[in-house]
Amino acid sequence: MALGKRIDIHVHLSQYWPDLERNSYRRGLQFTVPSLLRELDAQSIGFAVLLQLYSNPTPEEVLREGEEMFTKSGGRLLKTVTVDPTRGAEAVQHTLDLWAKARDLVAIKLYPGYREFYPHDSRLEPVYEFAHRRRVPVMIHQGDTLDPDGRVKYARPLEVDEVAVRYRDVRFVLCHLGNPWVEELAEVVYKNSNVYTDTSGLLANPAVPYFREMFGRAQRRLTNAIAAIGDARRVLYGSDWPLESIETAVTLVQGLDLPEEDRERILGGNARELLRLDAPG
Ligand SMILES: [Zn+2]
Repeated sequence: MALGKRIDIHVHLSQYWPDLERNSYRRGLQFTVPSLLRELDAQSIGFAVLLQLYSNPTPEEVLREGEEMFTKSGGRLLKTVTVDPTRGAEAVQHTLDLWAKARDLVAIKLYPGYREFYPHDSRLEPVYEFAHRRRVPVMIHQGDTLDPDGRVKYARPLEVDEVAVRYRDVRFVLCHLGNPWVEELAEVVYKNSNVYTDTSGLLANPAVPYFREMFGRAQRRLTNAIAAIGDARRVLYGSDWPLESIETAVTLVQGLDLPEEDRERILGGNARELLRLDAPG
């Protein structure tokens, strides 16, 4: 079977999400590779970027789990890493030494908001230098945190502007359209040609009373952000599976009032370019 051209830039699958049953509305959903691949296949999505969680206990385990999922999925769940700078400069350096030996990493994920640091924290400088050397994008959690104990002041798009300017050769992906700071996000993406955004996690449980309105609002916000940026090339489809179903997340993008070509770019073409999936070698 030929793999679909589309790419989901934002999924999670990890044993280090112990309260998933409590957080997810999708009762009975199997949190497994085959279950995720089935949902991807149904939407013609060939690959998904599997974002490691900040709750994973060690950098060794981050790499091991990523490798396991990559192998189990036949290479369709792409490998990423994460680092928490609040663990200190030495821990960051140890993590980077491990990454230096890792193959086929497609992205680095950071979790400001869930952890107390700004993207312009000086302890992250070697991480951005690594991203530059290895040409991997840095994906940054933005806006609302699932955990009510998160500190959202660390997760505002405006806080990324500083590093976007300082590291022009590093590409940044600001997740969740910066929700709720969508206008702020649009400005940071518009201004900085090395900044992208993803459409993940914008919807809640379809059973909530105002889901239809919520869905329409998410589409309007997405359309407004693209209008403000003036370009659909730096907008990437993502679901945040298992928190959102792949089908619902794809439907959100497919229903946008944009040229068909741009919708498909968002659903995969942009990510293929960003991750250089079509590049030889
Ligand atoms: Zn996520």
